[in-house]
Order: sequence, then C-alpha cells, then structure tokens
Amino acid sequence: MDIQQILEEILAEVQPLLHQGQVASYIPQLAAVPADKLGMALRTVDGSVYAVGDAAERFSIQSISKIFTLTLAMQLAGDALWQRVGREPSGNPFNSLIQLEYENGKPRNPFINAGALVVTDVILSHLDDAKATVRNIVRVLCGKADVDFDLTVARSEQATGHRNKAMAYFLKSFSNLDNEPERVLDAYFHHCSLTMSCLELCEAVLFLANNGIAPLSGDMVMSSSQVKYINSLLLTCGTYDAVGDFAYRVGLPGKSGVGGGIVAVMPGHFSLCVWSPGLDASGNSLAGTKALELFTTRTGISVF
Ligand code: GLU
Repeated sequence: MDIQQILEEILAEVQPLLHQGQVASYIPQLAAVPADKLGMALRTVDGSVYAVGDAAERFSIQSISKIFTLTLAMQLAGDALWQRVGREPSGNPFNSLIQLEYENGKPRNPFINAGALVVTDVILSHLDDAKATVRNIVRVLCGKADVDFDLTVARSEQATGHRNKAMAYFLKSFSNLDNEPERVLDAYFHHCSLTMSCLELCEAVLFLANNGIAPLSGDMVMSSSQVKYINSLLLTCGTYDAVGDFAYRVGLPGKSGVGGGIVAVMPGHFSLCVWSPGLDASGNSLAGTKALELFTTRTGISVF
C-alpha cells in the first residue's frame, strides 16, 4: 500500500472543506490562524514517516494536551484518580457546567474540561512545577527540546476563559480541587497552549500504538494495561460529544483540540495526526475528521 500517495490524494480531496468549518474564536489568539492550513502525518511503530501539506508547521494543540496530562496523572495517582473523575462519555459539550451540578462535581471523564481541570489538580498536588514537567514529558516523547507553550495563547485564554474559571470554582465548591482554582487554571491554560506540529504529535503519542514504549527513546512510558485504559477512553470520550459519530466514521481512538488538530492511533501499527483549523459544530476539525475517515475507509485499516 502506498501510504504517501493515499495521504496526498486525501489532502487534495478535503481541500474544498477547508472553509466550511469555523476557526475557534472564543480564544481570541486562535481566531487569527488561517483556515486554509492543512497537514497530515503518520508514523509507524517501526520507524516509517509520511507527511503531507502543513505537517511540519506548529499549531496550538489545546485539548490534545489532555492525553499527556492524563498519562502523567495516572502515573502519579494510580487508580485513586478514578474516585474524582469518571470514565463515561458526557453526551454534553466539552465545556458544559450542567452535568457537574447534578453529578455532584465529579466530571464524567478526563477529556472534558472539568475532568482535565481535576487531572491538572492531581498533578499539581504531586509536583512543584506541573507546567514544566508536562512540557518536558512532551519534549522527551517527541524528541524536540524546543517544543514550548505559546504564552500569547495562554494569556489570551487566561483573559477570556470565564467558563473554565467558573468550572474550576464550581469543582472547588464540591471539594474536587485540592489546590487553588487560579493555580489549576494557570497550569491548565499553559498545557493547552503547547504548540506542536502533526509530525511531532505523531511521535509524542506513538507509545499508545506501541504497548506503552516510546519508540524514539525505547523508554516505557506506561504499562500495556494503562495504554488499554487510555486508548479506550480516547475511543469513547476523546472527540467531544460527536464521539459516537467519530468512532463510526473513523474507527480509531483519537483526541481532538479546538486548535483544529486531531491525533489518532492504530494500536500495534501507527499514530496519525491531521490539522485543519476549521471546526464543526461539536468542536472537531471538519476537514480533519473527513481526512481520517477517508484514510481508514480507503486503507481498510481501523481497530474494527
Ligand atoms: N483550552 C481550551 C478550553 O479549555 C481547550 C478546549 C479544547 O481544545 O477542547 O476551552
């Protein structure tokens, strides 16, 4: 199978969709990103790399960072984490407050914002510098020492993220944050502001396709059981409340972010990342989701 050619064909095919989505504007800094960016990359566990379009250009990874913070929190807190965060799809927008009220402050899963705030709180309770630790983990995983926060994006969200702030204080009112809400929010906004390319993201999540071992360093990031936990959460909770539709169309565990990136993994084989900033109504990259759907349909490769 000629993967490079398939990616090139898909890139051409989804071009007409680039302006059908809406670039996220609730974080002012993200609204400035051109809607016609489009990149896609794939890395196999045995070292092959394929890339097309803007695959080497860095973008704001936003909620894709929730993979890395969950990975760290699972290592730090083990099963105790699940007393404070659930493992079910929310069926609600990623930044909804309603469910938190009637479920007594326990977020449905670690990939909605409320869940990620609790995950960040867990990290802060174990480490002095959560921001630097998460950044370093990502740097080591992708092998790039200059991967960094975009401080203008972090400040932009700090200035306008009133809903996340409401959520953090709400969690605190249920005693589901140990640290001060502002400290949790500061770390969370920084994690979301990491900028990475499709190629770097593919490398960084490849351990999820490789039984927990990072192919680049040979380091064991987590056990194969923990990889099973994260991949199943990605499949059931990773792509907002369109997660059922994403699983139906794409058939791979994946995580999207409002910066327009989506990473997906095929356990035992490869990681795949697409970036196109225009989002659909659920917050997933519109052209990006289509590109992944075309890839799994055309190659016949998916977890099903
Ligand atoms: N920083 C964004 C927020 O909290 C992340 C959202 C996302 O990518 O899903 O609203």
